Amino acid sequence: LLEARGLVKIFGKLTALNGADLAVAENEFHGLIGPNGSGKSTLMKCVAGAEIPTSGTVTFGGRDISRASPAERARAGMSLKFQITSVLPALTLYDNILLALQAQTSLPRLVFSRTRGILHDRAMAMLEQFRLVDRAADPASALSHGQQQWLEIAMALAPEPKLLLLDEPTGGMSLEERRVTGELLQPIKKRCSLVIVEHDLDFIRDICDRLTVLDQGGVLDCGSVQHIQSSARVQEVYLRRA
Ligand code: ATP
Ligand code: MG
Repeated sequence: LLEARGLVKIFGKLTALNGADLAVAENEFHGLIGPNGSGKSTLMKCVAGAEIPTSGTVTFGGRDISRASPAERARAGMSLKFQITSVLPALTLYDNILLALQAQTSLPRLVFSRTRGILHDRAMAMLEQFRLVDRAADPASALSHGQQQWLEIAMALAPEPKLLLLDEPTGGMSLEERRVTGELLQPIKKRCSLVIVEHDLDFIRDICDRLTVLDQGGVLDCGSVQHIQSSARVQEVYLRRA
């Protein structure tokens, strides 16, 4: 589904990505790990179009999108938490989800009123899936930190993307909230692929099919969770430091 090849990103004198590759199949959960500053967020941004790589290519669904804008990538079926909308604290959960749907729906405005019923159903289904349906009428500001993160994931998923990109979605969550996040992500596997950046190895190994390990802007190793766990290269450079 996604293939990033030879991505290089240079910021001034700093090389953030040094020829990194990332390949994700349909319905695959792919974890991106590596030490601080190894280029994980930069790679995610290059995939989503928030940064344009200095060189390298990104193809999505067989199409070269290396030069496409973030909005074009969203229309093609990519969704990044934070990319199009983020939570508006004064609005209710329901309105936040509707906004996310409306922002990414490709339907012209005139048609929008006729699709309201469909959007309503989809918004409620997303809230239900993320265990937030009881809070639908509450302002988003009333949620706990973990629940706000779930709302953001629900918003990113609302337009039914083919690929969801999550950069450290469990940052600041309690252990219990992390566990629930893993549970909440499982059902989306039937519908979409996921690239997730995480520092918590226990969390990521439970939910991912394959892992890519970055180090100093390049790919140190890539493969099944089992492969990565027994990779001497990874042990040496990454696991020991973590
Ligand atoms: P972390 O685990 O801390 O989130 P990361 O793996 O996500 O780290 P990146 O954020 O991709 O790492 O950063 C890679 C390198 O590029 C770092 O040295 C960072 O300081 C640098 N960098 C990232 N974005 C920019 C930018 N906009 N301008 C200049 N340097 C940047
Ligand atoms: Mg980062």
